[in-house]
Amino acid sequence: MFGVGHLTAARELMRSFSQPYDDVVETDVEVLQRRLDQQNLVIQTLLALLLEKGVVKEDEFREWVKRMDQLDGARDGKLAEDRSEAPCPSCGKPNVRTASKCRHCGEELEPDLVPPRP
Ligand SMILES: [Zn+2]
Repeated sequence: MFGVGHLTAARELMRSFSQPYDDVVETDVEVLQRRLDQQNLVIQTLLALLLEKGVVKEDEFREWVKRMDQLDGARDGKLAEDRSEAPCPSCGKPNVRTASKCRHCGEELEPDLVPPRP
């Protein structure tokens, strides 16, 4: 059964692909470019694997991209992340809903990983 645990595991896996190289000082733009390049690599690997294994067909994948695009209420070629905040149950200070740890007190949080509905 698919659940939040799977999304958390997927997020951790993505993080493991986006670690910076040792002793390299990067500008903010370089950090973003590196993350984008690495996300591209992982996404293309995933898609190539799914197509190669016959898990999905190209047309089916395109249809799913359209459906996912609409999940945030706007058909604009991207899936906006929910940046709204919720209070920490421990210290009461606000964190983005997708946070897994309170940025103020370090309390473990239950991240809300489901994209916002229109
Ligand atoms: Zn807190």
